[in-house]
Amino acid sequence: MSGYVISPPPVSSVPVAGGGAFPVRRVFCVGRNYAEHAREMGSDPDRELPFFFCKPADALVTGDADMPYPTMTTNLHHEMELVVAIGTGGKDIAEADALSHVWGYAAGLDMTRRDLQNAAKKEGKPWDMGKGFDQSAPIGVLIPAAGFPDPTKGKIELKVNGKLRQVSDLSKLIWSVAETIAFLSRLVALAPGDLIFTGTPEGVAAVVKGDLLEGVVEGVGTVTARIV
Ligand code: MN
Repeated sequence: MSGYVISPPPVSSVPVAGGGAFPVRRVFCVGRNYAEHAREMGSDPDRELPFFFCKPADALVTGDADMPYPTMTTNLHHEMELVVAIGTGGKDIAEADALSHVWGYAAGLDMTRRDLQNAAKKEGKPWDMGKGFDQSAPIGVLIPAAGFPDPTKGKIELKVNGKLRQVSDLSKLIWSVAETIAFLSRLVALAPGDLIFTGTPEGVAAVVKGDLLEGVVEGVGTVTARIV
């Protein structure tokens, strides 16, 4: 084969605490992974296996950069989440081994065009354009897994313009980080560079231009985005 006929696309990456960058391959997201959020979205949290959707790797927004208010929506929602970065790939990963596949963790926002997502749900259509739009995934600095050895607990919260909008604890994840990795690795072979947004707690709501979003995952770090 000859060379590429256009320039290859740039590699998306997430900055790492202390320097360097984590190159991103795919971005997986878990749906409805906190019971109170599942209820606020009108679902029964007790009956569901984990399910996944994806965002493009180039949807990530790093460096606490501004996030442009997206087109084709009047109902942009925040979803504050713990993000897991896979350093070692694998398929059919055992739950007991799952955390050894993690390179690190970050705080992230699964920004959502809720109106488009709701319309898609109603019509049985894909969520992609409600979830995987340009600059839909602000993410903070990644810390190595050794710095956060126990992802089964830790406060997760989001403030908008200084007011608390979402607050919960990782202990309330329906499917834990280890269970999520194990389950996802049965659906696809995970690979180094994959990110997993692990789901959002209750309190999702709309933001407008000018709003400042400040999220924290205790023990992991922060994510900040202004909607412009
Ligand atoms: Mn989400």
